[in-house]
Amino acid sequence: MGIARGMMTTLRHVFKPAITVNYPEQQREVPVRARTNLLWFEERCTGCSTCAQACPDGCILVQTSPREDGTLNIDRYEIDFRICMYCGLCTEACPYQAIQAGGRYDDAVYVFESMYRNRQTLTGEAQKYLAGTGGRYPNGQMQELIPLTTTMPTARSRVPVAGASGPFGPQRLPGKLDHDER
Ligand code: SF4
Ligand code: SF4
Repeated sequence: MGIARGMMTTLRHVFKPAITVNYPEQQREVPVRARTNLLWFEERCTGCSTCAQACPDGCILVQTSPREDGTLNIDRYEIDFRICMYCGLCTEACPYQAIQAGGRYDDAVYVFESMYRNRQTLTGEAQKYLAGTGGRYPNGQMQELIPLTTTMPTARSRVPVAGASGPFGPQRLPGKLDHDER
């Protein structure tokens, strides 16, 4: 009876369409909000280090130096994915959504140390992601409204659109004007 039941199950599935795909030749669409990886968008980052403080594993390194206008220059931004548990606390803590969940999931590596990603690697990943989505951040905002420029004079001027009416606006400090107000 057991063998017959097993054969019946097999026969039932023989005539059903396959639910698997021939990875990696074929790849399924990843849902927009899938928490597949971490993406750091340098042009949105102010160097506030909130993400690093929120990370329970201590795998984010932010090193900054002060600018004359009171904002921070980001000297180093690095994530050690060897110890990251993809909990997403850093993405929730970031006031500017400069680090967001998303991106590729096929990042298995041969060399474990290569999971330590520095600023250059992270920016390359982010730019590749934006190129693939036509400039849409994982949170739905469009990059064309926030050009990917890393040499803007102040951190707050990098996110004028998000700050104009959205909930994730730039920090407004006394005596400091935003880019649009100059
Ligand atoms: S996902 Fe979690 S463990 Fe990974 S960097 Fe962010 S806060 Fe740290
Ligand atoms: S990613 Fe966000 S929380 Fe982290 S330093 Fe940049 S702005 Fe601050």
